[in-house]
Amino acid sequence: MKNPLRKRILVTGGAGFLGSHLCERLLNEGNDVICVDNFYTGDKSNIKHLIGNPYFEVIRHDICFPLYVEVDEIYNLACPASPIHYQFDPVQTTKTSVHGSINMLGLAKRLRIKIFQASTSEVYGDPTEHPQRETYWGNVNPIGLRACYDEGKRCAETLFFDYHRQHRLNIKVARIFNTYGPRMHPNDGRVVSNFIIQALKGEDITVYGDGMQTRSFCYVDDMIEGFIRLMNTPDEITGPINLGNPTEFTILDLARLTIELTGSRSKIVFHPLPKDDPRQRRPDISLAKEILGWQPKVPLKDGLVETISYFKQLLKL
Ligand code: NAD
Ligand code: UDP
Repeated sequence: MKNPLRKRILVTGGAGFLGSHLCERLLNEGNDVICVDNFYTGDKSNIKHLIGNPYFEVIRHDICFPLYVEVDEIYNLACPASPIHYQFDPVQTTKTSVHGSINMLGLAKRLRIKIFQASTSEVYGDPTEHPQRETYWGNVNPIGLRACYDEGKRCAETLFFDYHRQHRLNIKVARIFNTYGPRMHPNDGRVVSNFIIQALKGEDITVYGDGMQTRSFCYVDDMIEGFIRLMNTPDEITGPINLGNPTEFTILDLARLTIELTGSRSKIVFHPLPKDDPRQRRPDISLAKEILGWQPKVPLKDGLVETISYFKQLLKL
């Protein structure tokens, strides 16, 4: 029998970077958590400290196939998130966003429960509006290398809003901007993990292009707080809501800061810019501030120190 005082919460992609932090937070708040993951990019090491907790269950499952469980809420995070991973099997990436969302929305519809979607700033593509507000429709190349991810996530948003309009489903769509922190993949090619690992190993720091492209980096704890607040809003709040850190840095700034914080002797080298790499990205988080009373608290320097210490342990340095 289910304890009526405990919410049973499904987290898809729960063995991934963000998913594992979310599972941990939900368990700490006294919930019963079911983590569903096919371990495509996630790893058991991310959740090994949770295994053994009687309120934590792991199901190996690909969300492209239907899933029958009884839960009170769904956080749909399953999807490879880094360009190297999502471009490795682009058809599977689109399937995960589209078929996976249909399956999870179907589950939410049957159970009449609310469902959260981890959407992305990539729905804005290479934005012509800066900073990006939720009203901006985006500038996405539909046939480019990033399209499997960008268009997959855009279609997932369409599905969420159609289920909301057609079936009165309670949806919560977050547009997540670049997030970093412990349990990022060491080899997923993301800029924060690449630079930290290169700096710790004393290798060259690979800046793509001239390094003047910008990103805004949100620490994982801030992001998870945003997820929880959005999920707990009244039914009429659907999103999409931008979640991210509005403080913008150039990639070159990030390379210099990483060298400083690791005390590394690494040199900065310049490599060609990947195709369709956005020049600028910064969220306008006015809506999140107003509706969720949320804004990131952790400065880049502090978050990088935590992340560096995680990678030092991982690399046994
Ligand atoms: P991640 O790759 O660490 O986690 C994704 C998880 O989903 C992995 O554990 C993977 O094994 C699992 N997965 C992938 N396909 C699956 C499938 N078909 N069925 C079941 N499980 C599957 O990535 P992350 O950084 O934790 O991202 C989580 C979510 O947040 C993703 O949906 C991503 O698009 C979104 N997001 C992340 C960022 C970021 O900066 N990390 C930014 C924007 C959006
Ligand atoms: N980048 C870089 N060196 C690296 C990895 C990435 O200069 O070793 C750049 C990349 O070209 C992009 C930015 O850093 O302009 C952020 O890349 P990431 O893959 O982390 O995220 P996304 O492009 O999805 O925002």
